[in-house]
Amino acid sequence: MSHILQPDSQLDHWVAEQNLPAFRAAQIRRWLFASRAESFAEMTNLPLPLRTELEGAFQWWTSHVAVHKQAEDGTEKLLLEFSDQQKIECVLLREAERRTICISTQVGCGMGCVFCASGLDGVVRNLTAGEIIEQMLRLRRLMPEEERISHIVVMGMGEPLANLENLLAALKVAASSEGLGISPRRMTISTVGLPAAMRRLSQAGSQYNLAVSLHAANDTLRNELVPVNAKSGLEAILAAADEYFEASGRRLTFEYVLLGGINDREQDAQQLATRLRSRSALLNLIPYNPVAGLPYRTPTEDAVARFSAVLTAQGVNVQIRRRKGSRIDAACGQLRRMPVTTA
Ligand code: SAH
Repeated sequence: MSHILQPDSQLDHWVAEQNLPAFRAAQIRRWLFASRAESFAEMTNLPLPLRTELEGAFQWWTSHVAVHKQAEDGTEKLLLEFSDQQKIECVLLREAERRTICISTQVGCGMGCVFCASGLDGVVRNLTAGEIIEQMLRLRRLMPEEERISHIVVMGMGEPLANLENLLAALKVAASSEGLGISPRRMTISTVGLPAAMRRLSQAGSQYNLAVSLHAANDTLRNELVPVNAKSGLEAILAAADEYFEASGRRLTFEYVLLGGINDREQDAQQLATRLRSRSALLNLIPYNPVAGLPYRTPTEDAVARFSAVLTAQGVNVQIRRRKGSRIDAACGQLRRMPVTTA
């Protein structure tokens, strides 16, 4: 059975084959993308027999919500389990008028960043485009009907650029007027920095925001923290990022997890400033969010402020990412395949 959320589900083709007027496909998409309905039976402006036929021809949900957590700051997190028992997490963040969803692209992650929960057990598989879209709709259904998703950040589990084709197919649906109608300029893809895939993104003329996870300003330290760095080195990553900026005109974002005593010293800030001050970029500092079983320390607020001040003094735009949803392990780097059981 075809997954109706999969971009190549052939819904239009099926509608034509049934000798139905073409507007039926648009009607069905409105139910999928603009309502809170969860079953074909709820598509009340379709004739009853058509609803039954849809049920026979298409699968809608390929996951179920295994765990749903809500934090006091309005953040909600879903653990979704797919039919092959694989699990991923995705998050809804509320901030003033913003409704940002954070979605995953892989079960697990193969990049091995030493401070991140998502890659602790490696990568199992890529998510399909339909499974990526399904996260958007599951999260959409946590909001009242009159609210809309305003932003998408591809910052959940997995390395987005290691599953680029499926991700782009999913984001295209998110952007289309018959999908979620969200401007690509309100979507951000965060990558560990895979130069070849970054160049493909440039060549595709994409308008998404690109965020590059740096975490260190020299190769020695970066090889330790982000092992995949050894394959390309920082220079190649920064060159590919510059190319993306030139092609898209979108200001780059660099992310930098601050690990107490490891990459938060004054000399680290100086080196980072040297790398970034000539670039039109935003630097996002992310104080380390604790991951059960990992030995890293979150720097004190003072240390974060000192680090930030060194960069600001050299003209770098710095933003400190406020921790959201950490009580429910929904903050950056805390998403994983299994819920942590706390005694
Ligand atoms: N694989 C992509 C998407 C992850 S985005 C990437 O590497 O960019 C999530 C961001 O949170 C990344 O910058 C990631 O390095 C960072 N992160 C990972 N673990 C973290 C932790 N424990 N605390 C804070 N940030 C973390």
